[in-house]
Parts: sequence; C-alpha cells; structure tokens
Amino acid sequence: MNPIFAELQTSVFETMSRLARETGAVNLGQGFPDDPGPEDVRRHAANAVIEGWNQYPPMMGLPELRGAVAAHYRHWQGLDLDPESEVMVTSGATEALAGALLALIEPGDEVVLFEPMYDAYLPLVRRAGGVPRFVTLQPPHFRLTEGSLAAAFSDRTKVVLFNNPLNPTATVFPDEDLALLARFCVRHDAIALCDEVWEHVVFDGVRHHPLIAQEGMRERSVKVGSAGKIFNLTGWKVGFVCAAPRLMRVLAKAHQFVTFTTPPNLQSAVAYGLGKDDSYFERLRVELARSRDRFAAGLTSLGFSVLPSRATYFLNIDIAELGLDDDVAFCRRLVLDHGVAAIPVSAFYAEGAVRNVVRFCFAKRDATLDAALDRLSGVIRRAA
Ligand code: PMP
Ligand code: GLN
Repeated sequence: MNPIFAELQTSVFETMSRLARETGAVNLGQGFPDDPGPEDVRRHAANAVIEGWNQYPPMMGLPELRGAVAAHYRHWQGLDLDPESEVMVTSGATEALAGALLALIEPGDEVVLFEPMYDAYLPLVRRAGGVPRFVTLQPPHFRLTEGSLAAAFSDRTKVVLFNNPLNPTATVFPDEDLALLARFCVRHDAIALCDEVWEHVVFDGVRHHPLIAQEGMRERSVKVGSAGKIFNLTGWKVGFVCAAPRLMRVLAKAHQFVTFTTPPNLQSAVAYGLGKDDSYFERLRVELARSRDRFAAGLTSLGFSVLPSRATYFLNIDIAELGLDDDVAFCRRLVLDHGVAAIPVSAFYAEGAVRNVVRFCFAKRDATLDAALDRLSGVIRRAA
C-alpha cells in the first residue's frame, strides 16, 4: 500500500468529533456551525431533489451555478471571470485542492506551504509527488516576510498553496503580504493555489482580497471557494475553482476522473444562494462575530489567554500562559475530564513545531457556548 496514506493517522477533526460523540462532550473541535443554514437555500435544494434533474449534470458544473459564481465574485471582489472557460464546480474545496495538486505537480516539483496549514495539504502534496518547502508563520501576527519567502522559493518551485483567511489562526493577510507573495510567484514563475474558503467569514469590517487580483497573478492563480462556509452548510461539499483557461483546461481533466460531477440539486441551490442580497452576507458576519465575542469574553473571564480572531469560525487560546506545553494532552484531558472537544493546533504543523495553542469553534448557539464555558471553568483550577 502507498505509505503516505498507510502511515497517516485518522484526521484530528474526525478523532475529536468521535470522542465528543462517545463521551457526550460539547463539540467545539471540528469546524461546523450549530446554525442550520439559510432556510430558503435549503428549500431550494429540497425542491430541486423532488422536481429537478437528478442525473449527471454537466462535468464543469451547472451553467446557472458557473454564472452565479462569476457574478458573485464580480460583485464582491471585483473579479472579471468568464463562466464558460474560467469557472468549474467541484465536490467541495477538498476535491478542488486535491485535483489541482494532481493536475499541476510533476514528481520532484517543489510546493511552498505555510505552517500552520490545513491538515489535508501535506499528504495531498506528497501523494502528487511534490516536495514540500515550508514557511513557518510566527505568532501573534502570522505575517509573510521577504526573508521567509526567499528561503522557501527556488527555481524548482511549481506551486504555492496559500490559505487566506487562515485556518486555524483566524488571521487575514494584509494587502502588503499579498503583493509580496505575488512578486515571488511572478519572479519564480509559480502557480498560486489559493484556498479562500473563508472569504466571506471575516469580521470587524475586514474585506477579503483575493490573491488572483494582485499584479501578475491573473494568469497564474487557481482560486478555490466553498459553499459550505458561505452558507453555514459544511456537509454540502460544493466547491468552485476559478482560473485562467490555460490552467482550467488541465484542472478539468483531474476533476473529470476524480469525481466528474457534483450533485445537481445542491448546485442549483448554491446558484440561488450566491445571488442573495448583501444583507445575508453581512448578517452572517455580524452573527458569527457576536458568538466570537461572547465566547472570547467568557474564556477571558475564566483566565484563559485568548488570541485575536479576525475571520473563520475559530478562536485560539495560548496554553503556555497556564504553564502547559502539550496541546494534544491538554485536548485529551479537556474532552475526557471536562467534556469539551477542541483541536490541538500542532496538528496543523508538519513536525508539531507549535504545541501551546488550542483551537475552539465558536460558530455555535449561545447555549452551546455557555455550556462549554461552564465546563471549562474547572480547567484553570486544575491546571493551577
Ligand atoms: N480548506 C480549508 C482551509 C478549510 O478550513 C476547509 C474546511 N473547513 C476546507 C478547505 C474544506 O472545504 P470543503 O468542505 O468545501 O471541502
Ligand atoms: N475544516 C474543518 C475544520 O477546520 C474540518 C473539516 C474536516 O473535518 N475535514 O474544522
């Protein structure tokens, strides 16, 4: 069997969700919201199942959804994308990322990755034959620097896999960093694979700026989005890929033989949802930011050291402040002894370079957050 997968552990998200189910813990580990998602979008999907087409849709996606994706990104991000040749629908962002890595990398090509990184990236890069070159982002700001990029890029760099907003740090890269990364991509003739699934989940008046809009990036970026995060429907697995025709032709070949299509009823509902009024998207942010603030205030009052969160569903704490240095052991104790599941952030590093940060998902009802806070109130007493 292939050792890359044979030697892999079950994902930390699955492990923590299973432990939460088994122990009856409040699950703030895996990132999914309590909110059921917009009812009109869900009804649209239900109607499409009953009344609509349930056979294979076109390989590249329903024309109505490809058009809606282009219109949505024109409206929100000022992008000019041709739905016919530059937009493809995939079965979640995960398929889009896996397919892009399969399509773009040849064995031995170097791939620049930024730690902390989403757990799927490294095994997918390795399985595609890529050689990872890491840039380790430094807390508390997780900024890109000329020096760290210069150390990771080389004349063998083929792809840069860049997640913005960044899960798990909940940070948004400033324009200055995007411009810096773009200059490196252009200088080294690299393709940027941009995981922008959290593009709408940004707080405090922050706007998401896509890397593809930076100078020199239009022809060398693959922009990946996900309806799961835009509509709080993480199980739907409807993703979108936007790229110039030269790249899209090859990306489409990978999609053709990985999944070929994505359920047409969900595509139709997402096409409808992307056209919703601005107020829906604004409300999504306001409501999530309110949950973030409630949970952050609760954690702070219990004595935890809370790191800033400008985006995503996540809030991190620094357990070094409690004199602790093993996030995995802390999370096991949290779920088994205190009944709260969280994610140890070392899972987002190739070698576990950081072991003092723990991630919580705050996209939950007030009652869920309050129940978690109640259970967490015993942790500090025990740690002390
Ligand atoms: N990339 C990142 C950074 C994510 O956080 C997630 C899901 N949480 C994904 C990709 C996967 O998205 P999807 O469910 O659409 O495959
Ligand atoms: N992206 C989700 C998170 O960060 C997890 C998705 C998964 O379980 N693979 O929590």
